[in-house]
Amino acid sequence: MHKRTIRIHHSPLYPPLFIIIPISMKQCHFCANKITAIDYKDAYLLRRFMNSLGKIYPPKKHNTCAKHQRELSSAIKRSRVMALIPFTTR
Ligand SMILES: [Zn+2]
Repeated sequence: MHKRTIRIHHSPLYPPLFIIIPISMKQCHFCANKITAIDYKDAYLLRRFMNSLGKIYPPKKHNTCAKHQRELSSAIKRSRVMALIPFTTR
């Protein structure tokens, strides 16, 4: 995991104090893997972006960008019509 250190003060009296701030490595799965078109036939991938009830997770959950979230939601809806993933489980 990436970490960023920040030096707090530069006083000669004290040893330098560093704080370690973890940088969140979360970013859009599709941007990171350079996936341009989301395949609606890839049910295994689409399942990761849905909860157990079949609802689509909000973009904040997986840090999906707005462009890919739009493509993802239409891919999930197409996949539901093709009966690859369920509309609801209850
Ligand atoms: Zn993206």
